[in-house]
Amino acid sequence: MTLVVQKYGGTSVATPERLQLVAQRIRDTVAGGSSAVVVVSAMGDTTDDLIRLAHSVSADPPEREMDALLSTGEVITAPLLAMALAAADVPAVSLTGPQAGIRTTRAHRSARITDIVPVRVIEELEQGRVVVVAGFQGSTENMDIATLGRGGSDTSAVALAVALHAEHCEILTDVAGVFTADPRVEPSARVIPEITYEEMLEMAAAGARVMHPRAVEIGEAYSMPIRVLSSFEDGPGTLICRHPRMEQRQKVRGIAHETDLAKVTLLRVPDRPGVAASTFGPFGEAGINVDIIVQNVSHDGTTDLSFTIGQSDLKRATALLEDVARTVGAEGFATDSDIAQVSVIGTGIRGTPGMFAKIFRTLAESGVNIQMISSSEIDITCIIDRASVREAVRALHHAFELEKI
Ligand code: ASP
Ligand code: MG
Repeated sequence: MTLVVQKYGGTSVATPERLQLVAQRIRDTVAGGSSAVVVVSAMGDTTDDLIRLAHSVSADPPEREMDALLSTGEVITAPLLAMALAAADVPAVSLTGPQAGIRTTRAHRSARITDIVPVRVIEELEQGRVVVVAGFQGSTENMDIATLGRGGSDTSAVALAVALHAEHCEILTDVAGVFTADPRVEPSARVIPEITYEEMLEMAAAGARVMHPRAVEIGEAYSMPIRVLSSFEDGPGTLICRHPRMEQRQKVRGIAHETDLAKVTLLRVPDRPGVAASTFGPFGEAGINVDIIVQNVSHDGTTDLSFTIGQSDLKRATALLEDVARTVGAEGFATDSDIAQVSVIGTGIRGTPGMFAKIFRTLAESGVNIQMISSSEIDITCIIDRASVREAVRALHHAFELEKI
């Protein structure tokens, strides 16, 4: 018998009525002859509510207690869904992450799964039950509860699919799949039928937040096919896999964009060894993620050094920059919080001549000025004014005919 792992996100299980709809959907899966393990998120905004609750009793809640608290969101959903399944005449049992044998590191709030020993899950499946597992959690070596980071139920699901040798893993969510661009920006955006793991990771890094990137990484490491689809409407969704069939026809898979960015420029930095190291060291220590870095060639022995960071880090970055500028002997620094990035993503980009030219021409014809450019094997990213981001996404989507896939 084939085994499918399904994961239902917070919106899909937000109310008792929705839990009943999910139970129906699982009943259909089981009636089709598959056994099912179902991973659930906390209902609706429960996790946010729990975080607020914690901060209402303590300014700095201990991480261990925070995890014990946050894990309860999923622990509520799992038995409720098992009850809804029983009411729909589908034998089911709920398990917490630790009961399902999910073991993690001790890094509270961002723990990683080290191992899964799914003895109990397999026993229950053998009894013909649907096993509902609370996502987002596992237990550490010393039996503490640890959570996997926000959005971590995706990771629980893919990891369980791998451990149980499931045929594939389904991520059921409130959108129809992974889109060629954000449909709120480009109404003609389509659901991408198939995408590689690396393209999906690139899309996620470039701003498309459909899935927990770590879940995609696990899928890639073990070649576990992942299908992202809506729990509210019918449709095939997006299959994340190793060898999409469309690869030959379509060189570009999608356009991603991100608006919550800021740019920092260190002005007239002396051009000598060690400057980059002394600049980025403090940022790393402060946990500020630096993304695109551009350093110009120097003419008079000094150079400007620009890089992008998350907008929410700008305040902390500015505080560091005074020191950094002094240490490296820069003339000063400038910041710009009105930028955005747009990325063209696809494994077909590598080795396709004229790709850069086409992107730059498209943006130029739309009057979009490019401030910085970075590229990898499978993506080309441009930093632009925030005000131009809609225009840029739409022009690129049209230029690569993504509305026709
Ligand atoms: N409930 C957790 C969160 O909101 C985990 C998840 O939904 O995947 O981040
Ligand atoms: Mg999620």
